[in-house]
Amino acid sequence: MARTAVLGFPRIGPDRELKLALERFWTGRVQADELRDTASRLRTQRLKAGQLAGIDVLPVGDFAYYDHVLDVAELFGIVAARHRDSDATDLQRHFLACRGAAGIAPLEMTKWFDTNYHYLVPELSEGQRFTVVADSLAKWTSHLHEARELGIQGRPVLVGPLTLLTLSKGVADPVSVLEPLSVAYAEVLSALAGAGAREVQLDEPALVLDQSSTALDAFEHAYRTLLDDARVEVSLTTYFAGIDQAALERIQMLPLAELHVDLVRAPEQLDCVLAHLPDGARLSAGVVDGRNVWATDLDRALDRLERVVARIGSDRLTVAPSCSLLHVPYAAKREQALDDELRSWLAFGDEKLGELGLLKTALEVSGGERDALLADHRARIASRRASSRTNDERVRARAAALTPGDYDRKMPLAERHHAQSERLQLPELPTTTIGSFPQTTEIREARRKRRAGELSEGDYLSFLQDQVETVIAAQERLGLDVLVHGEPERNDMVEYFGEQLEGFAFSQFGWVQSYGSRAVKPPILYGDVSRRGPMTVDWWRYAQSLTKRPVKGMLTGPVTILQWSFVRDDQPRQETCLQIALAIADEVGDLEDAGAAIIQIDEAALREGLPLKRSDQPDYVRWAIDCFRLTAADASAETQIHTHMCYSDFGEMIEEIARLDADVVSIEASRSDMVLLEAFRDFAYPGQIGPGVYDIHSPRVPSVEELESLLTLAEERIPRSQLWVNPDCGLKTRDWPEATAALENLVQAAHNRRAAVASLR
Ligand code: GLN
Ligand code: ZN
Repeated sequence: MARTAVLGFPRIGPDRELKLALERFWTGRVQADELRDTASRLRTQRLKAGQLAGIDVLPVGDFAYYDHVLDVAELFGIVAARHRDSDATDLQRHFLACRGAAGIAPLEMTKWFDTNYHYLVPELSEGQRFTVVADSLAKWTSHLHEARELGIQGRPVLVGPLTLLTLSKGVADPVSVLEPLSVAYAEVLSALAGAGAREVQLDEPALVLDQSSTALDAFEHAYRTLLDDARVEVSLTTYFAGIDQAALERIQMLPLAELHVDLVRAPEQLDCVLAHLPDGARLSAGVVDGRNVWATDLDRALDRLERVVARIGSDRLTVAPSCSLLHVPYAAKREQALDDELRSWLAFGDEKLGELGLLKTALEVSGGERDALLADHRARIASRRASSRTNDERVRARAAALTPGDYDRKMPLAERHHAQSERLQLPELPTTTIGSFPQTTEIREARRKRRAGELSEGDYLSFLQDQVETVIAAQERLGLDVLVHGEPERNDMVEYFGEQLEGFAFSQFGWVQSYGSRAVKPPILYGDVSRRGPMTVDWWRYAQSLTKRPVKGMLTGPVTILQWSFVRDDQPRQETCLQIALAIADEVGDLEDAGAAIIQIDEAALREGLPLKRSDQPDYVRWAIDCFRLTAADASAETQIHTHMCYSDFGEMIEEIARLDADVVSIEASRSDMVLLEAFRDFAYPGQIGPGVYDIHSPRVPSVEELESLLTLAEERIPRSQLWVNPDCGLKTRDWPEATAALENLVQAAHNRRAAVASLR
């Protein structure tokens, strides 16, 4: 008989209890004990839910106060020198690495593969040694014990050594230290065996990346060391993409008890995986999507599972979610504000546990017995497939009628540039901001009151109008050239649009961890997307009525809306993206009709959507850029289209950025001293660029001299006729005093540079 397993649970808490407990602890309102109790309660709750659902293998040690990668780094003594404060308690030192302190930078944070979860980047030092830190190991042993109290034989989970090193920085060739690290891992396995563990799960998602054969050699070698004499069974876990044959050939040589593969993201790998399974090893088949919120098509999952059973027998099969459930919310059944139909299409964490159990049972039966078992499920899948909400004829016809020319602006960039200069009459080195102004407590409070019904729609609107007036007046005072309305009406750049589009729903409790104590509630994009009416025009018009200077219309691009939502899985992502693009294109048209001379379409997340495997990237880049182009294609030549992207590694994407065919692109650049602009120079980028000169991620106010010198560096790389002067992202997380001070310096720096130009002539 097959068994079921869970690779990891969400940990933020169904009502974000962990967030609250952490924040209370950080501000000194509660003691460490209370934080520990909350955490233990949250873990116990999950284990009990797993137990109740009859799951055979439950994880322990997957929980982390802040980040599971950090916990494993600490386990092996990978601690940056600046975080080794000897006076602090262990927990204080732990949070120092997460959050920093005055004069002490925290660890860098970056995305966990292609998810929206962020981990802390471990910092190795040259000559790094690895020791097993007993106090850190206690997390795994005590969680094992905690599970045992509930009658559960938990399976400890650790990020594996290859992945840990792949994600670290500080050593030129991290894989070179894989061997000594695996010796330390072997020690941990033996300690876990001593603590009663029978099997251990090592997460190696790095195995799905493009790995060199040298790296794979090192991996195989290291795992031999690690598994040699191991007194526990080891389950090697991969997810987020398929494993290439070259990697499978190494895996096949290892004495593993189990290999886990992601059959949601990469079902096509199944045959190759089955052909390369280590002798006698189990296959853990990830057939329930651990990254999305939809009820599983159980028949399709059973097809896959039956292929496994036919090959290796059900005793060697583990039925599992594709990856840890960290990336999905807790329970769809709580979402009583969603209509019954939509709710029946969903499966969050709890529902996924139920699906695992159902799959295991269904494998044992056939015919009428199986039909009876799956009847309810099949009805839900069928209702979703047939619903008019997922099949809007109008939307589909419009997408189907697109022709290649529909993605192009009618005039080439250079001619548009001319037409726009005539219309806008901007000075050289025009100054602007990226869109949002500080989201003050006052704004958040007003939003909360509006939601709670304590503020009438009319009062809320006039409050927002006041905010827009303040923002416009401030920008005029500062002397910025191109203004924004400040986005006070938006709590989030995706949610704001999702709420006004058909095809999106919003959960009440659908929180997922973004990093540490932060959680996000992504919109659920369930159906065909269309616009009910103009979404931003009134705000733009109001803002423009207050000033003679141009105000930018401000939109979120289709790829970013897609990327930051839970996206329907019943059609390719690119089709969904195209529908969003058409809706945004309509909005561009309405803004133009209202008189907007400049429209910014933010694609903050364009880069994030890049698939993990190089071979999958060109296809994504093609359709993502096409979708952006579609939003702007109908804009007239005199309408200036801006886009903004919040990342900075452009070397590899410069041609794609050019292909966006935006008139002006603003990017993050301040932290790299404009070096990244080399790419734009080498490529002779045709459009205009606003390299962010003010780093809005820090409260520090850059001086005029500093900004001027960044601009000078930029001018050395890009003709000044192509340069704009702006911060590197929106100002929503900043305070007014620091934002104003920084913008004042930014405008002054631009003026100084203009004067320098003039005096040269
Ligand atoms: N226009 C948005 C803002 O200024 C862009 C945010 C982003 O790039 N993340 O807030
Ligand atoms: Zn940004």
